[in-house]
Amino acid sequence: MNKIEVNHLTKIFGSRPKLGLEYLNNGETKDDILEKTGQTVGVNQVSFSVKSGETFVIMGLSGSGKSTLIRLVNRLIEPTDGEVYIDGEDIKTMNHSGLIKTRRQKIAMVFQGFGLLPHRTVINNVAYGLELRGVNKEERERVAKKVIEDVGLSGHQNSYPEELSGGMQQRVGLARALTNDSDILLMDEAFSALDPIIRKEMQDELIQLQNKLGKTVLFITHDLDEALKLGDRIAVMKDGKIVQIGSAEEILENPVDDYVATFVKDVNRSKILEASQVMHTPEVLHNYKDGPRVAVRKMEEVGASSIFVVNKNNHFEGLLTIDNAIKAYNEQMPVESVQIEDVHVVSSETALDDLIGMAIDAKYPIAVVNEGRFLGIISRVSILSGLVLGKKDAEEVAP
Ligand code: ADP
Ligand code: MG
Repeated sequence: MNKIEVNHLTKIFGSRPKLGLEYLNNGETKDDILEKTGQTVGVNQVSFSVKSGETFVIMGLSGSGKSTLIRLVNRLIEPTDGEVYIDGEDIKTMNHSGLIKTRRQKIAMVFQGFGLLPHRTVINNVAYGLELRGVNKEERERVAKKVIEDVGLSGHQNSYPEELSGGMQQRVGLARALTNDSDILLMDEAFSALDPIIRKEMQDELIQLQNKLGKTVLFITHDLDEALKLGDRIAVMKDGKIVQIGSAEEILENPVDDYVATFVKDVNRSKILEASQVMHTPEVLHNYKDGPRVAVRKMEEVGASSIFVVNKNNHFEGLLTIDNAIKAYNEQMPVESVQIEDVHVVSSETALDDLIGMAIDAKYPIAVVNEGRFLGIISRVSILSGLVLGKKDAEEVAP
């Protein structure tokens, strides 16, 4: 089941939203509707879904409808048309108290302007949500302290917001959202007001927290680099509509129109893309007891000249070439004795930029391994061909 599901969601601002909706259903544009009816299309028939644990980024120029959309998701504003489901439950059917309860327990929101309470200390800001839920003081301070530590603010719990830098205040905002233990985090340009360096720190912080907490995050930004860095998937909005949804790679490779293309044209792909975005899952040898014969058959099936060896817990062991597998089979030697351990190993966060040098002199595919666990492979050809094709594209668009 999807954590968040949005169906044909529409918001029209003005005194006659139904009239605007009629025009919209007749295919009129946002500009025409404003001119003819005075109604402003905020969000235009948007549909998407977010899986549990996914970071879904909504990107678009100012005025494209991002904030309106995120506020529709927790029903801070009422939709003109369409539905929002949270954990399969239609939020339109919730009464006031049901809605408040859902917001407190399932959905936390982090705003751009921090939204901190100035006369409360850091810990009392962070614990605010728990206080509203009637959690006793001891328990809420215990939880808040832990989250304050998680976001890197230990030692500041008794400070007041005005005593903190912008970056630290944003961390408090994040801590407060994390404290109420909701599965869903809505973040509207949460990092946009920060200096570039602090902003990068916050992005890294969020990625680390995500690895640990696995929340479902709906993250809004007008910044492409941020979208590419954080998003498992990205939706691009224009004039209230979603014009494209895809992974970073899909959007960079195949922008659907000029609007998206303009957004992505300045990106240096090799700096933005990470190993996790270009790796793929190969056929692997799972078990030493499968032996060289199974390895040869698997390589034959997929037309590969080598195969990675992992043990039962997906722990990375090494690489077996077809030559070595045949030798082991003929001479009845175990796979362990012929596997090659001297292969290039990178983590899933390694930048594509750093892989290029490696790919040029690597004899074998590159293994992507995090904390010993084998995640996938990156073939040399996918990196090197990308370089060549990338160059060609660049020449084609150059004046
Ligand atoms: P973004 O967050 O992408 O900058 P918004 O969601 O704030 O965009 O705005 C989308 C459109 O809806 C814009 O045309 C904006 O002017 C309009 N809009 C947003 N809020 C209101 C409102 N309360 N009343 C009237 N129009 C609004
Ligand atoms: Mg906005």
